[in-house]
Amino acid sequence: MLFPNVLLNSTKNLKASTSFVKLFLRSISTTHSKMSEVDKRFTLPQRYAGTKESVWTEYIQMAIDYKPLNLGQGFPDYPPPQYIMDTLSNVAVGEDYMLHQYTRGFGHPRLVAALSKLYSKLIGRPINERTEILTTSGAYEALFSTIMGHTEVGDEVIIIEPFYDCYEPMVRYAGGIPRFIPLKLREVTGRLPTSADWALDKDELENIFNSKTKMIILNTPNNPLGKVFSQEELVHIADLCKKWNVLCVADEVYEWLVYKPLKHIRIATLPGMWERTITIGSAGKTFSVTGWKVGWAYGPANLMVNLQMIHQNSVYTGVTPIQEATAIAFEKEMERLGSEECFFRSLPKELEAKRDYMAKFLVDVGMRPTIPDGGYFMIADWTPLESQINLESEKDEYKDYRFTKWMTKNIGIQGIPPSAFYSVPHKNLGENYVRYNFIKKDENLKKASDILTKWKSSLK
Ligand code: PMP
Ligand code: GLN
Repeated sequence: MLFPNVLLNSTKNLKASTSFVKLFLRSISTTHSKMSEVDKRFTLPQRYAGTKESVWTEYIQMAIDYKPLNLGQGFPDYPPPQYIMDTLSNVAVGEDYMLHQYTRGFGHPRLVAALSKLYSKLIGRPINERTEILTTSGAYEALFSTIMGHTEVGDEVIIIEPFYDCYEPMVRYAGGIPRFIPLKLREVTGRLPTSADWALDKDELENIFNSKTKMIILNTPNNPLGKVFSQEELVHIADLCKKWNVLCVADEVYEWLVYKPLKHIRIATLPGMWERTITIGSAGKTFSVTGWKVGWAYGPANLMVNLQMIHQNSVYTGVTPIQEATAIAFEKEMERLGSEECFFRSLPKELEAKRDYMAKFLVDVGMRPTIPDGGYFMIADWTPLESQINLESEKDEYKDYRFTKWMTKNIGIQGIPPSAFYSVPHKNLGENYVRYNFIKKDENLKKASDILTKWKSSLK
């Protein structure tokens, strides 16, 4: 703060010093009222009103503060294949110094060429690398550019619950109206539920589509359930998209993480769906490098233009060396696509064993997991343990937040509260569950098992 000039000669006489005090006090009070005016003027703009700290912001901080065994945020705690790390370091120190400069805005040429080659094969039609693919700053930006670029104020956007939490704020920022429809767990007896037991009610789905529906966001395999949508479910969704002339945004970031016997079906391959689908992917998930933050979207050129407009004026261009390294990684995997050595095949195999190991120790401690058919998350009903937990020690509104916080602070294991993946009216549907991540070193999964076993043996 700048001191008023009067301070400089305030000691000259008492009168002067009295007036200084008055002035000083006035200056403090005006500073305070100015502060509150500043606060008032710079609140979050109306279109973002209601945005709260996300579960990631809060839980990542909690992991730093309490240092639990972190089974919360989804990232591998072991290295990606050595060649992937080598690829990036070779790019960084290689002779082609132009790889340290801006690249083409809508996607680094080598990467869009690789993506075009791969997805043309998988989708069964030629995908133009210049007009039908956009590379982005992670799948987050692909989602953002798609939602911003295709939502008119007042458009309705169908979101299937539980949903990856950023969908809802993105739709609201774009002026859209989210319409939520929950997957519901069928009655299961004599076995553990699987993610396939979580299903949409067909009539509810039909009823939610209407003439104001612009878009549906489909996440398969789904985070947090691991649900891999079946052919029948996808055909039903596709038929409704065609009936109501709706855009399908297919978030397929876990496309390679599907466990036998299920298969990932790309909704863009269903009849009449290429023309109305934008599909989103992530190098972070594909190559186990979440810190690379390279994503992409592909779809027909007329739909991609909208995304390109948002991207060119916000992000403009992705990081060149990381896109180059991602392209080389794709080229390598494409050479061995379908073979046992291909990372797209070896990673799910490795994860399936981790999934089964986790399911067993969660059952042993008394929880009831849903076995995921895809992805690397598992939700589990923790309420059989409710009497052993002091939920009152936490103040959060939702029980799963209190459970996960209590576990982090008292038992030393962190999970994510699934109510974060539901709209406010449906948060109760997630409250009995916790989401754990199993793309962790075997020794850390064993540690989790040991911690829970020890806890269980101490219970009354
Ligand atoms: N969609 C889903 C379903 C996710 O789980 C995530 C988080 N990895 C993303 C999108 C964002 O991916 P990225 O890290 O590539 O931005
Ligand atoms: N997608 C990851 C998860 O679901 C990471 C989320 C994040 O950090 N924003 O855990």
